[in-house]
Amino acid sequence: MTFLTHLECSYTGERYDAGKVHGLSAAGKPLLVRYDLAALGRAVSKEQLAQRTDGFWRYHEFLPVARAENRISLGEVMTPLIRMPHSEKALGVSGEIIVKDEGRLPTGSFKARGLCVAVSMAKELGLNHLAMPTNGNAGAAMAAYASAAGMKTTIFCPDDTPAVNVEEIALQGGDVYRVNGLINDCGKIVGEGKEAAGWFDVSTLKEPYRIEGKKTMGLELAEQLGWELPDAIFYPTGGGTGLIGMWKAFDELEAIGWIGSKRPKMIAVQAKGCAPIVKAWEDGEEHAPLWENAWTAAAGIRVPIAVGDFLILRAVRASDGFAIAVEEEEIFATRDAIAREEGLLLCPEGAATYVAFEQSLKDGRISKSDRVILYNCATGLKYPMPSVDKFIDRTKPVDYERF
Ligand SMILES: *Cc1c(COP(=O)(O)O)cnc(C)c1O
Repeated sequence: MTFLTHLECSYTGERYDAGKVHGLSAAGKPLLVRYDLAALGRAVSKEQLAQRTDGFWRYHEFLPVARAENRISLGEVMTPLIRMPHSEKALGVSGEIIVKDEGRLPTGSFKARGLCVAVSMAKELGLNHLAMPTNGNAGAAMAAYASAAGMKTTIFCPDDTPAVNVEEIALQGGDVYRVNGLINDCGKIVGEGKEAAGWFDVSTLKEPYRIEGKKTMGLELAEQLGWELPDAIFYPTGGGTGLIGMWKAFDELEAIGWIGSKRPKMIAVQAKGCAPIVKAWEDGEEHAPLWENAWTAAAGIRVPIAVGDFLILRAVRASDGFAIAVEEEEIFATRDAIAREEGLLLCPEGAATYVAFEQSLKDGRISKSDRVILYNCATGLKYPMPSVDKFIDRTKPVDYERF
């Protein structure tokens, strides 16, 4: 069963019926899923939750999928919280720096959260052909979960998407194409092809259920921290689904009385080469116009325009957080340094949150006593790494002094 009652336009509040296929609202804005929170709160307790096995479906009362047979699973885990003792010491921090390592999820990124629930819901609603634009990770997650559900997927990605991403999509059953453009250009193809190709558009926030899946990040984090939210969350922001989802999770948890009104500062991290949300935040705007000539090698945050821009900005402002852009070179230098010093191979987007954290500590927006969460949203193994060419010729004497 599910406690879902209806959907609501995030901009106008207009109501939409549950049990039907929905894209954007009539106003062209994302739809938010609403629940009977009073009944939900009576149906499950923190103690019951603690007895359940790991994975997104442990929170099924908070999710929209009614029938258990539609809840697709590829072996989701509760992703670990990893302290960074070396960095804490080097920066003189008395609080805690904690990485939430989402690279441990199926398909190696937190896109599994949103797509697991979106694909499960698509199955429940009787859809059988899904399409999306992607910078890589979302496409891989959708292909994998849709294949597990017996559904067809068509996927478009920018032509410079790394081979590993395109190939993992294809191998997991996705019909994938490179397009000479950015993710928003790919999105146009998906939108325009809806009628002729008969697919359902699963673009970020253009269907209502990916947010619900990403909401499990907020539920899980709260549960892991003993229902005490941290002081700040650094989130690498592309379409912003995760930031919006966590914010929604916190509101729902407060509504059922599991947490109080304390919220972490929500900090949207972007790269200097693609920072539409940072610019809108600095300018005091509600919306973020298209960022021209967007570029960063951190592909997950190379999103020049976001349909949920106002939802990201509202959460950032309501939480007393901020939006911050980081230098491209620092992202990679930091990834390399953290791998060496902490033994933790972050993805570039995850490394960007560390750069942002360091900057915020310096400029005083974050205090040394804060407990902060840095989201490492994907495994570092999917990204190019510095090459290694050291070689031993075993037919010659080995110079053991060199090691
Ligand atoms: C998608 C993605 C992001 C951005 O997440 P949003 O919730 O869409 O803002 C960041 N990093 C990686 C690795 C991603 O795949």
